[in-house]
Amino acid sequence: MTSLYGVTRAELASELGSEPSFRLDQLWRGLWLENKKVLDITTLPAALRQRLHDAFPPTLEVVNEVASDQGATRKWVFRTATGSTIETVVMHYPERVTVCVSSQAGCAMGCTFCATGQAGFSGHLSVAEVIEQVMFAARAAEPARLSNVVFMGMGEPLENYRVTVEVLRRLHEFRGLSARHLTVSTVGVAPAIERLSREGLPLTLAVSLHAANDETRSQLVPLNDRYPLERLRRACATWRDVTGRRLSFEWALIDGVNDSETAAEELAAYARPLDAHVNLIPLNPTPGYLVRGSPPERVRAFHDALVMRGLNATVRQTRGRSIAAACGQLAAVSRPTKRTLSVRVGA
Ligand code: SAH
Ligand code: SF4
Repeated sequence: MTSLYGVTRAELASELGSEPSFRLDQLWRGLWLENKKVLDITTLPAALRQRLHDAFPPTLEVVNEVASDQGATRKWVFRTATGSTIETVVMHYPERVTVCVSSQAGCAMGCTFCATGQAGFSGHLSVAEVIEQVMFAARAAEPARLSNVVFMGMGEPLENYRVTVEVLRRLHEFRGLSARHLTVSTVGVAPAIERLSREGLPLTLAVSLHAANDETRSQLVPLNDRYPLERLRRACATWRDVTGRRLSFEWALIDGVNDSETAAEELAAYARPLDAHVNLIPLNPTPGYLVRGSPPERVRAFHDALVMRGLNATVRQTRGRSIAAACGQLAAVSRPTKRTLSVRVGA
């Protein structure tokens, strides 16, 4: 059983059977460009809408919605057909609207500082389930236009490789999103990065680095034991050489763990030859990891240390902390709603 976003155009054509061929265009346009649920595509006869809805019912059901930043950040909890819960976050900025999608229910990678990693893995999402998150967010964002999709929600997208690639292909071909609007964040599955670089897809790759020495990185990101920094470096070089595109490294700044002068030096030495951009994220609090994020002055000092060494670095604004919607906080469990002050660090 899949939804209308899980089937190809050819499959829809065969479902439409003897309907005139313009019906397929109307359906396609309504679904992909006008963000409509099939029952609301009023150019189609009501009976046909109902038939399509019954044949391909939506796979996600909303179970909760919360908002923060005066409504500029919203998070939804969805239940999947298999009964898992996943989370999706949409963020409105003056010049863009970004949806952060989940690629898996939970995650098996076990990064110590990440709420999703702390909760463990409960299943892969399907193509329909990932695209439905995007389309749900696109509807909710109206009248603003959803412009960006980032795979930075729950799960490791390159562990759900075929689905991730198919979703990217459809978002590119059917919604016209390109590299500046599609970002995949990976914890560093080196062979999958190499494979992805050869798919010919327009996208931006973000690699979650967090440490540029193997000892610290293995403590934060267990996958580093399998693909240590040197192996990851080769994969990143392949990405750059094959796609001709710059990649970015994500670095969650953790107090006393990876925010020293030495850490900045190691990062600069690793990132410079790859011509990578660095995105600094002050660590967001999670229940299972007691170390704090770096204080704002350390974040600034770390940023300046990178810039002094010739790196292109930015500090990501924190969004949605008070509703546990910020990076690394998605675990699809309700927690006590203790108010957390959202600290903004100038980007
Ligand atoms: N699995 C992928 C994508 C989802 S995580 C990955 O790891 O890249 C999205 C981003 O949030 C990653 O860069 C991740 O390192 C970061 N992140 C995880 N926990 C965090 C936390 N507590 N604070 C800040 N960023 C965090
Ligand atoms: Fe999984 Fe990414 Fe969280 Fe690591 S940081 S546990 S890879 S979601």
